[in-house]
Amino acid sequence: MRTPQLNRLLVAGAATAALGGGLVAATPATAATATPAAPAAPTTAAATASGPAKAQAAPKFQLPFACGQKWQLNTWGHSPALDMVKEPTQHGTEGAALLAPASGTVVASFRHDNGGHVVQIRHTGRHYTTYLHMKYRSVSKGTWIAKGTKIGAVGKTGKLGNNHPHLHYEQGYDKNNNGSVTWGSPAAERVAASFNGKKYTGKLKQWDNVKSANKCAPKKYYVTTKAAATAYASPTSKKAVGRLGKGRSYVFCAAKGRSFSYKGTSKYWLYTELDSGSKSGWVSAAYLGKGGARPKDLAGRHIPYC
Ligand SMILES: [Zn+2]
Repeated sequence: MRTPQLNRLLVAGAATAALGGGLVAATPATAATATPAAPAAPTTAAATASGPAKAQAAPKFQLPFACGQKWQLNTWGHSPALDMVKEPTQHGTEGAALLAPASGTVVASFRHDNGGHVVQIRHTGRHYTTYLHMKYRSVSKGTWIAKGTKIGAVGKTGKLGNNHPHLHYEQGYDKNNNGSVTWGSPAAERVAASFNGKKYTGKLKQWDNVKSANKCAPKKYYVTTKAAATAYASPTSKKAVGRLGKGRSYVFCAAKGRSFSYKGTSKYWLYTELDSGSKSGWVSAAYLGKGGARPKDLAGRHIPYC
C-alpha cells in the first residue's frame, strides 16, 4: 500500500541521497558536448560565435506532459533543477509520456550511469532542457522535434533514480556560449524553470497540481451563424476554401480583415474548422449579425484575437 505521505518521504529520501552524492557525475556527459551544433538545428547561429553574449529570451516552455495532467514540482535541495511526480498519488508517474516542452533539436540521447536514460534538447536562443531517469527514450540525437513531440517516458533509471519513479528536469542556458550546456551539478549552466509563463524556482520549494498546457487543443468559442457562410483562406483573402453551416458552431479566435457584408458589414473575421471544403478557414463575423462590434461568443465573452 502506497500512501502519498510515504511516497513523498521516499522522494525526499531520494533527494537527500542525490544531495549527498552529487546528482550525476561531476563531469557533464560527453555525449552532450561532443557535437555542439547538430546540422538539423534551425536556429542558434549564436552557438558558433565566441564569448559571452547578451542573454536571449527563452521560448514559452510548457510542462513536458500531456494536456491537462497535474504534476507536483519540487526543487528539494537541488534548485533550480526540479523533480516531478504525478498528482494526486504519484500513480502513473512511471511510464507517463514525456513531451517536448518547446520545439528544438535533440542534442543528447544516451544512457548515463547515475542519470539513467537522458535526453537533452536545444531550443531557440541558447536555451536547453534536460531529462533524467527516463524509462526509455524515443528520440535520437540530431533530430529536430516540434513542441509536444513524445521524447520518451518517465522512469527511475540510473543509480540516482533511487528506484523511485520521477522526472528530474533541468532548464539550461548556454552562458559561456560554447554551443552546449552542462547539467546535473550545482555548478552547471542550469537556470530557473518556467512553464506557461510562470517561474518555478527556489530552494526546498514545492508546487502541487501544476496543470500541463502542452499540446492542448485550442479553446472553442460557441457562436450562432445566421446563414451558411463561405470561408476564406485568410481575413484578407477573397479565395474561398469551404463552407460553415448555419446555426450553432464554434470558432477559435478572431482577427481584423477586409470588410464583408451580410445583412450588415463587419471587418472582423473568425477562424474555425469547416463543414465542407478545407479543414479550416475564415468566416466573416457579419454572419453573427453584430455589425462593426468586436465579436463575442454565446456566453458574451470577447473572442480572443488570433
Ligand atoms: Zn532530481
